Amino acid sequence: FVIPDFSSFCKDVEDIFWKCKDNSEGQVASYIPQLARYSPESWGVSICTIDGQRYSIGDVDIPFTLQSCSKPLTYAIALENLGAKTVHQYIGQEPSGRNFNELILDLDKKPHNPMINAGAILSCSLLQTLIRPEMSPAEKFDFTLQCFKKMSGGENIGFNNAVFLSEREAADRNYALGFFMREHNCYPKKANLKDIMDYYFQCCAMEATCETMSVIAATLANGGICPTTEEKVLKPEVVRDVLSIMHSCGTYDYSGQFAFKVGLPAKSGVCGGMMLVIPNVMGIFCWSPPLDHLGNTVRGVQFCEELVNVFNFHRYDNL
Ligand code: GLN
Repeated sequence: FVIPDFSSFCKDVEDIFWKCKDNSEGQVASYIPQLARYSPESWGVSICTIDGQRYSIGDVDIPFTLQSCSKPLTYAIALENLGAKTVHQYIGQEPSGRNFNELILDLDKKPHNPMINAGAILSCSLLQTLIRPEMSPAEKFDFTLQCFKKMSGGENIGFNNAVFLSEREAADRNYALGFFMREHNCYPKKANLKDIMDYYFQCCAMEATCETMSVIAATLANGGICPTTEEKVLKPEVVRDVLSIMHSCGTYDYSGQFAFKVGLPAKSGVCGGMMLVIPNVMGIFCWSPPLDHLGNTVRGVQFCEELVNVFNFHRYDNL
């Protein structure tokens, strides 16, 4: 076992869980009514080790939409199918130093990285246009859902149509980003902006639970082999790239501080999700809707920081 005394590890995780539970800071996302309805009390943590040991505590079976937690997944699918060289002709690898939905491109007129909205819309354009171009948007949706499902070891991934429709209605900024990138010729030739934006909103509206998301995190921790099915879902070099970008850009404009304090790849979303990957050890998923002013889950960030205070999981512990 990678964690030989799993039950005592879980006991420590439980203590951290209760400590974070008391934190009532932050605001639930309210830009669409479907997100605003989530309880600020909800709080769950799930763990899946690379050898398949599982532990969950709290609200781990309430489904939520993935929102930005889908960004590393769509980026991974793009890398897996197109290779890093092609993908990074279109998207950079630099933290933007700005908000997740800021109307800004880098000096090469590319989105800064695939973990913010502009970069994720670009990943979606690559998936729509360059991977299996014979597929209709409906088939592309199914293909993506199946890819997410494989990463989760076949656990249920749903789709929340109300969130999709609402997201699309309240998307002035995302459309602005979409058009801004078209103005700067950011997309592959033959890209259809309407299909790209719909696809981006669909990826944000994929739905799963904390438990299921911890398996996806564990697939990344395990170099692309799902620990519960032993299926090889992603190439190790793809996972290396995904984790590198999550490490430097996964928590929006908190990414530098997160890399300093936690020293691990992670990805947050406005749903209140936080995916944390401890390479070669385990995947962790935290979910709690209240967000700080940067858009990161308050309890999720606290959990990650407390965890590395107790265990030496920081990349530069053990020197
Ligand atoms: N659906 C959200 C948006 O595009 C996703 C962003 C996020 O999770 N920060 O605005």
